[in-house]
Amino acid sequence: MDNMICVGSGSAGNAYILRTTAGTLLIEAGLPVATIKRSLNYKISDIAGCLISHSHGDHAKHAGSVAQLGIPVYVGSTHTANEIGISCICLPHDTASDIGEFKVLPFFVRHDVTCCGYLIYHADFRTLFFATDLGGLRDRDMMFYGVNHVLIECNYQDGFLAANNAYPAAIKQRVRQYHLSLDGCVSILRNNISLKDVKTIGLIHLSRENTDKQDCLSRLIDAVPRTIKCDTY
Ligand SMILES: [Zn+2]
Ligand SMILES: [Zn+2]
Repeated sequence: MDNMICVGSGSAGNAYILRTTAGTLLIEAGLPVATIKRSLNYKISDIAGCLISHSHGDHAKHAGSVAQLGIPVYVGSTHTANEIGISCICLPHDTASDIGEFKVLPFFVRHDVTCCGYLIYHADFRTLFFATDLGGLRDRDMMFYGVNHVLIECNYQDGFLAANNAYPAAIKQRVRQYHLSLDGCVSILRNNISLKDVKTIGLIHLSRENTDKQDCLSRLIDAVPRTIKCDTY
């Protein structure tokens, strides 16, 4: 997705930047503010806000520092606001909210803490579906239409996770329950998102130990229409 800068993706820290002609939206604050600033060439005056999916450190550790810059921090649940422990704006789920020139609608996903994905609209790129750290959608039958870009977690591949002896069984179980495999990701793309208008799909939050980036990409390309540009971050 041309309007997106991936500052970092994965358990070491997540931050994504949506740049448009009329403002910037930060998604996640899992990396230090200095790193985020550098990715924007220190031009942070037009950041309309920072969206946070959930309270885990790799997504929210630096939310307080972001807020200290005067950037409003948005979440999809009061649970998340309480867990992060800073003053956040909680977005409603029944109607899209304006954040600068962006319109944002949260939806719940299944994780071991309250976690939200977001539909983000801006005239420059139209509609982005963003979801990370999810065992699946909370509402399995949820259907998304009119999506133009997808950024979705692809945390592990079943074979790699099963063969990973460094992970105790309990951790493997947690990963399977609360994170998305390549197969799970493809299932959401096939069953919950209308791909008719989708132009790009980006896989995010890939585990270095439990995925092969190139293999994920080629399997994704095989699973979706050829007109869609696929990428990994
Ligand atoms: Zn994470
Ligand atoms: Zn998480």
